Amino acid sequence: MARSQIANRKSKIVISGGGPAGSSLAIRLAKLGFETTLIEREQFPRAKLCGEFISPECLEHFDELGVLEEMLSAGGDQITETRFFELGGRSVGVASSWFGRGEFALSLSRATMDHLLLERAKQVGVSVYEETSVTGVESDGDQIISLHARTSDGSVRDIAGEIFIDATGRARVLAKLADRKLDTAAAHVKPDLIGFKAHLETADVPKGVCEIYSFQNGYGGLSRVEDDRFNFCFLMKASAVRSFGGDADEIVRDIVGKNKRAAVTLGDVAPHHDWLAVSIDGFGARRSSPARNLFAVGDSASFIDPFTGSGMFMAFQSSALLANAIAAYSDSPDRIASEYLDRYGKTFSNRHRVCWVLRQTAFVPVVATTIVSALSLSTSVRQRLARATRG
Ligand SMILES: Cc1cc2nc3c(=O)[nH]c(=O)nc-3n(C[C@H](O)[C@H](O)[C@H](O)COP(=O)(O)OP(=O)(O)OC[C@H]3O[C@@H](n4cnc5c(N)ncnc54)[C@H](O)[C@@H]3O)c2cc1C
Repeated sequence: MARSQIANRKSKIVISGGGPAGSSLAIRLAKLGFETTLIEREQFPRAKLCGEFISPECLEHFDELGVLEEMLSAGGDQITETRFFELGGRSVGVASSWFGRGEFALSLSRATMDHLLLERAKQVGVSVYEETSVTGVESDGDQIISLHARTSDGSVRDIAGEIFIDATGRARVLAKLADRKLDTAAAHVKPDLIGFKAHLETADVPKGVCEIYSFQNGYGGLSRVEDDRFNFCFLMKASAVRSFGGDADEIVRDIVGKNKRAAVTLGDVAPHHDWLAVSIDGFGARRSSPARNLFAVGDSASFIDPFTGSGMFMAFQSSALLANAIAAYSDSPDRIASEYLDRYGKTFSNRHRVCWVLRQTAFVPVVATTIVSALSLSTSVRQRLARATRG
């Protein structure tokens, strides 16, 4: 395809990806007076595969970002308890207040949440390009100087900047492009897990509760979202998904439905739209990028098991840490890097360790059953565990 340069734009900070990490960072930086550009592949609002459990701590970030009222009035459910059901139907509850900040979590679709954040970014002066994909980087030595971005009509735009942010989620598009540019081999990783999600027309889950079901080779979460719909999202080992030919309806009927509680709440699943599916090739911190002026936030920086319902919180938190580091040292990428990485490690490394342990229990029903029985004996242990997932 012939490349038409329809605009060459000098931006100081260029963010790729308009999920919670990218949008929140853009809002913070624009409010700090930085010239900020955000490039997003999709046209919002768009559905996104997620448990849509917006943990209580995120509400503080919404407040700082200026979107709290809109989020609270968008019709989502206020979740005061998450209940974990083992295969036989026994359960333990974790109060949302145990996470340490706020009385409730919000169950709101990612279509709505991400859209409200992106609209706020536009409102505070961020230049937002939707339906525009980052497809290449231009480097000078060990620094990126501009991005190539392709719009939906096929034209290519060069977007120059001084600081670049990878907020493209687990895909880490920008980091991988920078790696390739600098001839570093990018490892191909086989997916370990497959995630599925659909909004359902009906489900029998009480208001104010998020329910988590353990089943063979996976677990899933169900809660109400806006517009009288229910979000059901589950994760399963890729090998087990393959044995069902990837058919989510069949998996729900034959495997998820073996969980006694899920059989009642899900009944005959009637998705409002086709199932969304993603593959997941691991958790934890990602390899840092070779470019000196490229920083990663949200899932691009590290991916935490969805079991803890804290991925979005980490996206907001990492963006807040990076915004502070940029505000303090905007003229020195090296100082931004050392400040950000130091704060990042202190904030998140323990959280990843706790979540690693929890993950080992989540995929084996017999272990999940033992843990549910043990935890049902002690409220204070459950409380401490909930806090530990937040570091
Ligand atoms: C199965 C599952 C369930 C989950 N459930 C929960 C939950 O209940 N609660 C919770 O807190 N977290 C949950 N998470 C984690 C949560 O979804 C992520 O942590 C969060 O979305 C990270 O935000 P982000 O902004 O870093 O990335 P994303 O939300 O992935 O946003 C990245 C954005 O980048 C855009 N993009 C990608 N490529 C390009 C490109 N080339 N050019 C331009 N733009 C691009 C994408 O379109 C997207 O909008 C779950 C994750 C999974 C996989």
